Amino acid sequence: MTETTAMQCTPAISKMIDWQQAMKTTKQTIGFVPTMGFLHEGHAELIKEAKKNNDRVAVSIFVNPAQFGPGEDFEEYPRNLDADIRLASQAGADIVFCPGVEDMYPTDGGIRIVPGPLADRLCGASRPGHFDGVLKVVLKLVNIVQPDTVYFGMKDAQQLAIIETFFRDYNCPAVIVRVPTVREMDGLAKSSRNVNLSVQERNEAPVIYEALQQAELLVKEGGSLEGITQFVENTLREKTSGAVDYVSILTYPQLEEPTAVSQDLIIACAVQFSKARLIDNIIFKREG
Ligand code: AMP
Repeated sequence: MTETTAMQCTPAISKMIDWQQAMKTTKQTIGFVPTMGFLHEGHAELIKEAKKNNDRVAVSIFVNPAQFGPGEDFEEYPRNLDADIRLASQAGADIVFCPGVEDMYPTDGGIRIVPGPLADRLCGASRPGHFDGVLKVVLKLVNIVQPDTVYFGMKDAQQLAIIETFFRDYNCPAVIVRVPTVREMDGLAKSSRNVNLSVQERNEAPVIYEALQQAELLVKEGGSLEGITQFVENTLREKTSGAVDYVSILTYPQLEEPTAVSQDLIIACAVQFSKARLIDNIIFKREG
């Protein structure tokens, strides 16, 4: 058993490093949950999972400008540090690390991390440079926090696949744990961006998960993947006022075009509403 102490909160990288070194000196394991804040029950689930399996839990809150493209919603991204600190503490965090942009990016020597072909499809195709920025911040954060285990949500399935591949190929020592998507009662995936939906858009948004669930059934019944993709796209077009960015069925986690024998699949989509771009997916097994 570890002692319970009041949760700490710091924007300073040096304080964060002092904390993780103190944990290492006392042989306590660190679970880490990186986030962009405006925390909800999806984030809480990651923190609780980390708490169950580690002595200590660190949560980072950083809206990372490097992963937003020009014209995207960096400025409009919702923020509420006080509420985040409360939620993180209640879910079991021991420290919240909330650096500013100037703390995280004080210099730029021009070195870039290139995520490669895994980032060419799905969100990567419509958000060029997005996953470069994700890998940049994740590498910096894990270097600062030095966790034993890092927790990521399956809602951001492409992000998870890219980070898992990065950690494996570059021998990053932390273990990655996948946490299933937490949903609202009506099936909508919880997301910090949901507050930027209009009332009408919020009413329409559960169609996204309904369409994905129908698609999963149709795939399992042996339907044509092309036809099923088209069916989801048509459903989203007809039943929401959003613009469909993509609907795609790929292998998971390789994110390749499925062959007749591919079993581990993802059906994923993105819909752009007036002020919020929502993504969702289902990862499932198609029996041979
Ligand atoms: P974000 O703050 O949106 O960057 O998300 C931080 C982490 O929380 C990522 O690993 C996300 O995949 C995860 N996450 C976000 N929403 C959910 C959700 N509804 N269920 C589970 N995990 C989530």
